[in-house]
Amino acid sequence: MQPLATAVLAIHGGAGVERAGMTADDVAAARAALERALRAGHARLEAGAPALEVVGAAITVLEDAPMFNAGRGAVFTHDGRNELDASLMDGASGRAGAVAGVQRVRNPILLARAVMEHSPHVMMVGAGAEAFAGEQGVTLVEPAYFHTDKRWEQLQRALREDAAGQAQAGPGSTMYFGTVGAVALDGAGHLAAGTSTGGMTNKRYGRVGDSPIIGAGTWADAACAVSGTGWGEYYIRTAAAHEICARVRHGGEDIRTAAEGVINGDVVRAGGDGGAIALDAGGTVAFPFNTEGMFRGWIGTDGVPHVAVFAEDALPAVGE
Ligand code: ASP
Repeated sequence: MQPLATAVLAIHGGAGVERAGMTADDVAAARAALERALRAGHARLEAGAPALEVVGAAITVLEDAPMFNAGRGAVFTHDGRNELDASLMDGASGRAGAVAGVQRVRNPILLARAVMEHSPHVMMVGAGAEAFAGEQGVTLVEPAYFHTDKRWEQLQRALREDAAGQAQAGPGSTMYFGTVGAVALDGAGHLAAGTSTGGMTNKRYGRVGDSPIIGAGTWADAACAVSGTGWGEYYIRTAAAHEICARVRHGGEDIRTAAEGVINGDVVRAGGDGGAIALDAGGTVAFPFNTEGMFRGWIGTDGVPHVAVFAEDALPAVGE
């Protein structure tokens, strides 16, 4: 199949960009990882793969990259564990798959896809999800695989703040939105979206955020695909990803207006913050966020990756 001129992949590596916490080498490494993910997805687009596969290919690269809060490099829970969440949705069929609280699945996005394609369910959690992963041949690893010193330090800092009574009710110095996500429009004009995360540093009690919740952190239909990153509780409460697409489908809003309205309107008014990537069936991508920056990028049929990190970084519009 020949890809259409509009085929496009957009990705994010989280809206938790903190200038103070990043060296020039950190920024360069993040940009390189984003480019690798875009190229991996583009290779699938060029081969005529469906959007769902393109999304999975890009997210797998980001899960394997230790600088993002997904897969290897995920943040730690209060108890010093990594509990991973992921979901994906196929806009063409309306099918979806999700996993939450898994501790041994190397690439949770691949397990989410297996849930969608090889089970009658949409969402599996914890030990049950891992048993299913074993049955499906999805790669399992020792929990230590996910450990990075940087994330461990972030947990220690959060615990010290807890102990000093400085714990914040929400994002602040101890919160790191490094969730990864992708949205794609394939050569057949079909959309898909996916999101993968370690959640939020110092999370407790089996906390699950928006990333694995269809309609909150991830949504795709025939007109629109969204992956979010931010303070998950507020994305759940505003049904952020679905709300963006509902405004496009039923409200007559263009994708940029809808995405801005939800991320910089509804989510902020509710008390949250973060960002999202949103793509429509015409190939237009919106990258709204209200933090210092969002790891983000896109690639079109010409195979040239475009990436940006800080708010002021220029990112050409798709097609420019
Ligand atoms: N949205 C994620 C969560 O709340 C965090 C993130 O975006 O990094 O679990």
